Amino acid sequence: MKKFINKILIATLLVLFLACGDKTANVSDEAGASVQPIETYNWKMTTTWPPNFPVLGEVANKYAEWVEDMSDGQLKIKVYGGGELVPSLEAFDAVSNGTVEMGSGAAYYWAGKTPAAQFFAAVPFGMNSQQVTSWLESGGGMELWRKTYAKFNLIPYMGGNTGVQMGGWFNKEINSVNDFKGLKMRMPGIAGKVLEKAGGTAVLVAGGEIYTSLERGVIDATEWIGPYHDHKMGFHKIAKYYYTPGWHEPGTQLEFFVNKDKHDALPKHLQAVLDAASKRAQVWVLSEFDNQNGIFLDKLKGEGVEIREFSKETLDVLRGYTKTAVQEMVGNDPLSKEVYESYSAYQTRVSKWSKLTEQAYYNKIQK
Ligand code: CA
Repeated sequence: MKKFINKILIATLLVLFLACGDKTANVSDEAGASVQPIETYNWKMTTTWPPNFPVLGEVANKYAEWVEDMSDGQLKIKVYGGGELVPSLEAFDAVSNGTVEMGSGAAYYWAGKTPAAQFFAAVPFGMNSQQVTSWLESGGGMELWRKTYAKFNLIPYMGGNTGVQMGGWFNKEINSVNDFKGLKMRMPGIAGKVLEKAGGTAVLVAGGEIYTSLERGVIDATEWIGPYHDHKMGFHKIAKYYYTPGWHEPGTQLEFFVNKDKHDALPKHLQAVLDAASKRAQVWVLSEFDNQNGIFLDKLKGEGVEIREFSKETLDVLRGYTKTAVQEMVGNDPLSKEVYESYSAYQTRVSKWSKLTEQAYYNKIQK
């Protein structure tokens, strides 16, 4: 009985110490031995998305819940939407300088910091989500991503993948590459350069401003993600044609990034929790998009949207422009060259296998 009361006393003391904040203190157990109480960590995450943005912002909230559950409350992360703590596109700097412990976004937002970052988000005519995940996890991609972010005092983690995106919303048909001439289109990353080689103008528009820009004619066309998210954005109300495939973003990778000093100050098991939650996010985001996209594709069709496919000829010309755009990019930056060589060698290798198996399966079996 006495032992039991002692245990309750120790537990109460622990709770009192923990309630005092992040401080550690020693208490004694019934044998007088020193017991190290558990240190807790309270972190902030700033995202590049509006607060609670479907899927992209949701996964940040879920990540925080998973981390708290897996760490039994030892690591708590409070999530802030873009602009709540720092503006969306200042997330990288805020985490780099340690103002905020971690962030979430997509690496192509940081092309201005380091062009090589774009290969960790989306590469036109590049790998799909399964292949990108495989490159990062097993093919040396993650090591290169860490190398790319190391000079910013950041550690990157996978944060989900959208899968193959749709090719965008247009109010005129795109029957050949000439139809991109003079077209003002919201198009991020390397694909923006490809669009310009086709005679179009890539316009940078933040997610929350795309609808009004398209409605007011500031842009003629836009890409976004896929049926689920695009329906929520309401593009079907102001654009008629919905094109496939998303040649420009075949497997867009999302990210979490953590300040390295804050990361290294965590005990090893909490670092492992961050990593495990990132893998869970990678599965959840793609599952969520796949789950919802089929449902919302039918909804869009029911609301009068016309689905169109880019012709093979159009895509072949865009593929050629992509090669040129990438060569120009890697020619000016040794790190981009290193990352691209790894990426493209992996794509060549993995796509041989994918064609033999998955492509054959889609073509001959799964109708
Ligand atoms: Ca997109």
